[in-house]
Amino acid sequence: MAPRDYYEILGVPRTATADELKSAFRQLARKYHPDVNKDPGAEDKFKEINEAYAVLSDADKRAAYDRYGYEGLNGMGGMPDFSTMDFSDLFEGLFGFGGFGGGGGSRRSRNAPRRGADLNMTVTLEFDEAVFGVEKEIEIVRDEVCATCSGSGAEPGTSPKTCSSCGGRGEVRQVRQTLLGSMVQVSTCPTCQGKGEVIDTPCHTCRGRGLERKTVKKVVPIPAGVDTGTQIRLAGEGQPGANGGPNGNIYLEIRVKTHKFFKRRKDDVLLDLNINVAQATLGAEVEIPTLKGTEKIKIPAGTQPGKVFTLKGKGIPHLRGSGNGDQLVVVNVAVPTHLSSEQRELFETLAKTLGTDVSPQEKSFVDVLKEVLGGS
Ligand SMILES: [Zn+2]
Ligand SMILES: [Zn+2]
Repeated sequence: MAPRDYYEILGVPRTATADELKSAFRQLARKYHPDVNKDPGAEDKFKEINEAYAVLSDADKRAAYDRYGYEGLNGMGGMPDFSTMDFSDLFEGLFGFGGFGGGGGSRRSRNAPRRGADLNMTVTLEFDEAVFGVEKEIEIVRDEVCATCSGSGAEPGTSPKTCSSCGGRGEVRQVRQTLLGSMVQVSTCPTCQGKGEVIDTPCHTCRGRGLERKTVKKVVPIPAGVDTGTQIRLAGEGQPGANGGPNGNIYLEIRVKTHKFFKRRKDDVLLDLNINVAQATLGAEVEIPTLKGTEKIKIPAGTQPGKVFTLKGKGIPHLRGSGNGDQLVVVNVAVPTHLSSEQRELFETLAKTLGTDVSPQEKSFVDVLKEVLGGS
């Protein structure tokens, strides 16, 4: 029985590129690999796929096959010799868990430079600190190179030795018998975990880790205008990198305490101001707090509850860009609940002159407040 056409087996056209071949092969191999597919016939199919790929992925063999078919391969050592092929490279990452036979994925990266982990921290600021900016001291808990052993992990006076199991290469090769013949399997050296070195006398401070946990104080300049949720990146202040890789970062999240009487809406600062009935009716000049001390504002005669006065540029500095938000003063007219007898008489006199008519309001005080506060 003539074997099937290699292109047909891989399901690719005769014009397929090397990448297309590889991708078709990987897809089929994943589907029919005997570790995955327990169907009878899957094994044969898998062999067939491998044979087809072994030929077509070799430029010389592919050219010969294209010209002369199976006959063409005779002069080239015939069928591919599976017993000498190293599949570990091809299968690396194929199943997403360290490749064929395990250990493959981590082997390569074990001694490669690795970036340190990022750290997340929060810092709580007073309202004023967030508005004006502040230099804040924070305590970072992270690993640092062990001062006792300078990071070698070996007790001072001793040094790490070359691993005798792998000769310092960090990996061991094993020949495994499989249905495809012998396969060379490369895995991380179990003695040294891929480092290529072993430590006989570990450092007493770090127990051989080469790193020790430290609490580091650092003064962080916090810019004016930050708010709850603002994140500040402290580049390179995170966990140390490995094998010469860069350090991780710290992401510092800001939280801001509430103020005694200021509220914040974006970069505007809101102040609720109580004035009395006489001030609202006759007008007045009142002193109000601002972010930078007190200031006098004029309340015109006939000011209604909910009236908003805007003090341009007296708000919070914009974190990005220049300038400030505004200060908004929301007026509330406080109705007296305790009157002296003299005040009571005056109100009674007033009441007679004002009459008893009432008229429906177009906009309630609550509505006005909602507009100013943005629904909050
Ligand atoms: Zn140490
Ligand atoms: Zn080793």
